[in-house]
Parts: sequence; C-alpha cells; structure tokens
Amino acid sequence: MIGSSVGFRTRSWIVLYLGLLVVGSPAALAADCPGHPDALGTSRTLVVDPREHPRIGTMQYRETLPLKDHEVVLTFDDGPLPKYSNQILKMLDDECIKATFFIIGGQAKANPEGVRKLVAAGHTVGTHSMNHPLTFDRMPIEKAEAEINGGIAWTSAAMTDPSKLAPFFRIPGLMRAEGVENLLISRGIQVWSADFPADDWRHVSSDRVYQLAIQRLEAKGKGILLLHDIQARTVAALPRIIRDLKARGYRIVHVVPATADRPATPTTPVEWLLHPPTETVPIARWPAAPNFVFAQTQTLPAPSLADLNAQTEHQPLLPHKTKALANVASTLPVPGRDLFAIPEGSVEVLLSTTLSRRAATRLAMAAETPRAARNKAGKSHAPRAAHAAHGVPKHAAQAKGVAPKSVAPKSATPTSGAPHPTRVASLKKRPQ
Ligand SMILES: [Zn+2]
Repeated sequence: MIGSSVGFRTRSWIVLYLGLLVVGSPAALAADCPGHPDALGTSRTLVVDPREHPRIGTMQYRETLPLKDHEVVLTFDDGPLPKYSNQILKMLDDECIKATFFIIGGQAKANPEGVRKLVAAGHTVGTHSMNHPLTFDRMPIEKAEAEINGGIAWTSAAMTDPSKLAPFFRIPGLMRAEGVENLLISRGIQVWSADFPADDWRHVSSDRVYQLAIQRLEAKGKGILLLHDIQARTVAALPRIIRDLKARGYRIVHVVPATADRPATPTTPVEWLLHPPTETVPIARWPAAPNFVFAQTQTLPAPSLADLNAQTEHQPLLPHKTKALANVASTLPVPGRDLFAIPEGSVEVLLSTTLSRRAATRLAMAAETPRAARNKAGKSHAPRAAHAAHGVPKHAAQAKGVAPKSVAPKSATPTSGAPHPTRVASLKKRPQ
C-alpha cells in the first residue's frame, strides 16, 4: 500500500516535470512579455564595445556582431516618421522585441517625440547623419563630419537623457569611405553596416520585402537585418517577418553599447566572423608561397657539348635517320597469304573469346557453312556478311560494345554473357 503510494507520487512528479519542460520556453517568454504569451520576445542583450570592433556587418566588413546560429538583430533606419514609426513601435512592443534605430537628425528635429518614444520603449538609438546625403563616399571630410555631428546633436537634443544615445552610426546608403570610418572610429563610434537588407526602400511589394528578409536570413543563418521604419511596405511586411522568425526558431538579440557600469559581453575574436573557419568545413588552406632568399647570386656554368657525350663540337645532338635503317624496310619479305588464313574449325574458338557461346556458334556456322545457314534462315537473300550481322543476337552486339538504339536493356536474356542491366538498377535503389 505504501509502496504503490510512493510510486504514484513519483509518477506525478515526473509528469509535472515533463510538463514544465514542454511549456518552459513559452512560459518564460510570457513572463517577459506580459499580456502576450505568444510573443517572439528578446532572447538576450549583447553589450558591445565599439573600440574593440569598430566596423560591423558582413555586407561590407569582415566582422559582424558575435551572434549565435539563429540569432537576429533588427535595425530600422531613416526615422522617426510618426505615420510608420509608431506602427513599427507598436508591433515591436507587442512582441517584446528590442531593436536598434538609426535616426536622421532632420527627422529628430521634426519629430523629437518619436525619438523619446524609442528610448522609452527600451530600444537602442544610434544616428544616421543629419540630411541623409548619399555622397559620403566622395564628400569632403569636413562636410561628412558636419553631417555626422548634426545627426548626433539633433537626436541627443530630442532625448530626455542624451547619454542614452548609442555611439552607433550607419552611413547613409552604406556609401562607406575610409576617411569617414576613421573619423567615426577615432571618436569611439561604431560603424554599422548590415548582414542583409530586405530592399524595403525600393519600389517592391511588401510580399517581396518579407520574402527577401527571410530568404537572406535563412541563407546566412543569423545576422543584422536592415529595415526602414519610414516605409508602408515595411509596416505591412513586419508582422509576417516576425511570424516566420517565430516559426523558424529565430531569436531576437538586443544590442547595447558598453559603458563604465556595463562591460562588454565576453567574446572571442572568431565569434565576430559570420562563419568562422572550422575543421568540419573543408576549405582550401594552401601553404603560402615562401619568399626564397637568394643568398648567392653566382650562376651555374652552362653545360658544354662534352658534358652531353657529343663526339665532336659540330655534331648535331639529335640522331637522324641512318642509311642502314632506311634500307631495312625494303629488305623485309612480303608475308604470304597463308599467314592470315584461319584453319577450318577454329572460327568458333576465336569468336567464343569475345561473344557468348551461342552467338559464337551461330557466327561460326554462318562463316563456315554459308549455304546451310542461308537455308536454315529461309527468308534472307542478303549476302553472307550481312546475314551474319543480322544473325548476331542483340546481347551479342552489346557484348562487342556496340549498343544499338533499338536494343533496350530489358531485351537481354538472363543467360547472356553481357553485363546484366538489372544489377545496375539494383545498385541505384540502394539507400545513399
Ligand atoms: Zn538610410
């Protein structure tokens, strides 16, 4: 009685434990996102130090954020623009997703409330120049600096607490230039490219934006997605993108800058590569060509004719046809016709080495007793050679390496000496 009671209790605990395992993840997310039990949520916060990794995003740079497989960072450029930014903000809030926004100074000046909303919602806010010129790759550095400063000044001014501004900058149109990058890096600002865009600034449908976002993410398996919170098509595509991220098991990572109170997340340099080289992925690692140092410049002496066993100085090195050799051919006797005659009865033996016995017998009969063979066939009026050819069974033709189009593999008889076609078929059916 006691024993069965203990057993029941144990089983109950196991059932409860398994139940917790099954609902563990959603329950944790629901706790993080009150009122939205199915939210995608934000799986972790990544703290980065711009000085350690100043350029990120594999669209243009060697390094990108140290994300694990199936981790995604959402970024939105060019806002805030109330009409669309507010809708994007609501969707992200409903899913408890934290993203990074790259603000245009002009937008912050026109809509400072929009910047404050982003900060209040806990998103990371970086900048994206003052006027979004698409000439950063060729403008004078002074002008680029004024653009950078204007964006930072107006975005900071919109914030209640300007220290909330992240030292993250995305060059408009990704028109990178080394001078601009060096300027930003010297000021401790991290230059953000992306790992993949969804082309939502182009005149494409929201369906296309959704498809590109997911396809490009799937191709890389993780990374920084570049979107814009000033486009209707992005607003329309975002719910489907979020739904797919959920269905495909992706996790959102929130990126924040390191501060004195908040040290960078410990990482290894190789984690900042999108696909670090591993021993399991075969890639060519050829040894580099060594730099030979020629300590001695003295050249070797050129060989003389004497070194080549030449008899005299003027004798050509290549042998040429001697008179004796030229006369050999003409002195050989012409072979007699008998030499090529095949003794009677040996034809079958010769043919049987290459053909099946049945075919060899038929050919031998045709060759040695043409009249009898013709009479047996009855119908043919073809000359002996042609008749013999017709008489060759299909499998015999295959055995000689001649595979007429009319001969299907199935026509070969089981007794044929030719390779059996069904053996090939059975090989194909084997599991790979
Ligand atoms: Zn932009």
